[in-house]
Amino acid sequence: MVGAVTFAAGTIGSTLLLLAFFITSVALSRAGKKRKRRLVDIGKGGARDALQVLANGGAATVCIAVWAFLDHAAATSVWFVAFAGALAAATSDTWGTEVGTLAAKPPRSILTGKPLATGLSGGVSAPGTAAEVAGAVLIAVLAPAALLLALPGTGVTLHALTRLLLPVFIGGIGGATIDSVLGATLQDRRWCPACRRECEVDPHGCGTATERRRGLLWMSNDAVNFAATISGAAIAGGIWTLVR
Ligand SMILES: [Zn+2]
Repeated sequence: MVGAVTFAAGTIGSTLLLLAFFITSVALSRAGKKRKRRLVDIGKGGARDALQVLANGGAATVCIAVWAFLDHAAATSVWFVAFAGALAAATSDTWGTEVGTLAAKPPRSILTGKPLATGLSGGVSAPGTAAEVAGAVLIAVLAPAALLLALPGTGVTLHALTRLLLPVFIGGIGGATIDSVLGATLQDRRWCPACRRECEVDPHGCGTATERRRGLLWMSNDAVNFAATISGAAIAGGIWTLVR
């Protein structure tokens, strides 16, 4: 549904951005699969389930649908920039997570700076942060071309659309950062009494039922991703409204 709506709204232009997110995320999630399988503390499988897709692609899909219905002819449309910002946040966060979990050193909490178990939300590392920046750059660089392909024959030049780049990039980084901060604060964090370690799943990978440690019960990884992509859309669209 995410793919169909995105293609219907902006043909190959909007689909280009969705595919850039999707293909690179799947490829990166396969990198170091053996190592990632040992991450018993998080509820992250290889396959993307429906909720994960909605959490990462839902905000972008709503934005591109609104763009198609309300704002289609406008080359300076805030809704297209918001669409790209949501996908930049999803890409940035996914690249950061996938590369960060492969890092040799354990990540540190974005809030306290204390070392965290690899894979737990709210942790940051140098390789993970570099990957976040790279992911946001990819979507930002593709965004002007994507809008041009989605709006054929309007006479807008690619050069004029390069002004999209910075708002989309900041939206991506902003969304990914909000993801980490929420992961370190409000996200449901649990404790396995058998392994005596923090985790995000119930039961733990060892089979033991886990206890709630902090955070909000409903603030799952999917809820955090949803909040992060909405933030990416709002930040990119907000900056674009100010500078266009
Ligand atoms: Zn355990």
